[in-house]
Amino acid sequence: MHQERIEAIKREIAKADAGNPEELEAYRINYISKKSVVGELFAAMRDIPNEQKRAYGQLVNEVKQLAEEKFQELIEKVNSSASKSKSTDLDLTLPPSNIHVGGVHPLTATRQRIIEIFERIGFNLSEGPEIEDDWHNFTALNFPENHPAREMQDTFFLEKNPDIALRTHTSSVQVRVMENQKPPIRTLSPGRVFRNEAISARAHCIFHQVEGLYVDENVGFADLKNTLYHFAKEMFGKETKVRFRPSFFPFTEPSAEIDISCQLCGGKGCNVCKGTGWVEIGGSGMVDPNVLENCGIDSKRYTGFAFGMGIERIAMLKYQIKDLRLFTENDVRFLKQFRSMV
Ligand SMILES: [Zn+2]
Repeated sequence: MHQERIEAIKREIAKADAGNPEELEAYRINYISKKSVVGELFAAMRDIPNEQKRAYGQLVNEVKQLAEEKFQELIEKVNSSASKSKSTDLDLTLPPSNIHVGGVHPLTATRQRIIEIFERIGFNLSEGPEIEDDWHNFTALNFPENHPAREMQDTFFLEKNPDIALRTHTSSVQVRVMENQKPPIRTLSPGRVFRNEAISARAHCIFHQVEGLYVDENVGFADLKNTLYHFAKEMFGKETKVRFRPSFFPFTEPSAEIDISCQLCGGKGCNVCKGTGWVEIGGSGMVDPNVLENCGIDSKRYTGFAFGMGIERIAMLKYQIKDLRLFTENDVRFLKQFRSMV
């Protein structure tokens, strides 16, 4: 009876096959492991009458040896088929698969370019909080009590009395710098600002500004003009012309809007410049003595100039982008056009 069982197992082993690691493992469990059929034959030894033990043991050992030989054979077979399939899958002559490389957002690239230009003429970088109190956003900057920017329809207030708001400009950073540093001060403050505006092609409730401030003895309007001439030529090209138009801001006196010659028509007049040949890039002026005094700087000894520009505005003019909303829609077709910018 044992003999028949052993012969049957021998035939099974002879026929066993394995084409992959899973089948190999199944074979190991069935014929090699302690709980395998071969393992059971060994366990049955104790029930065999003593006089038959020797013959039985010999038979079982034969089966065990057969099972192990077969196992080695199958291991080699599975290993060689694995390495064969690896070598056929790998074709070094195939072109590489596409690697999708992202790019820098056009606003980030524009901001970086502006920073580079001003860093080279001695401006450092300063940052401040996006949530501001009334003092840093309005009062220190000479905003009168009844200025429209202090109203709910223009500004996102988080709290009233005392007023806490999302900053409406990065001028608040200049106040913080002047409060904490002694002149000479030459600083550039880029950042995000918030205004309660309806979103359109030309306006957004969130945008980016970069403001510059230079405070020292004997700083004059000529320094302001030369600094901005330098910036305009570096940013938009050597042929760019700059003009200053008198204007009013609460925190500068005198104040001027900064225009550059239209990039599209070169000053001849077109749709973008509405036929004038000029486009506005920002505002500027000599820091109002009240603002200096508010920040603890002696306005008899020190003077300063300040300017502010919208980063979106600069990017739109430089790359002829017609709709402000494109910057925040994250449309890859738009963004990937700027991939080569660093
Ligand atoms: Zn034009």
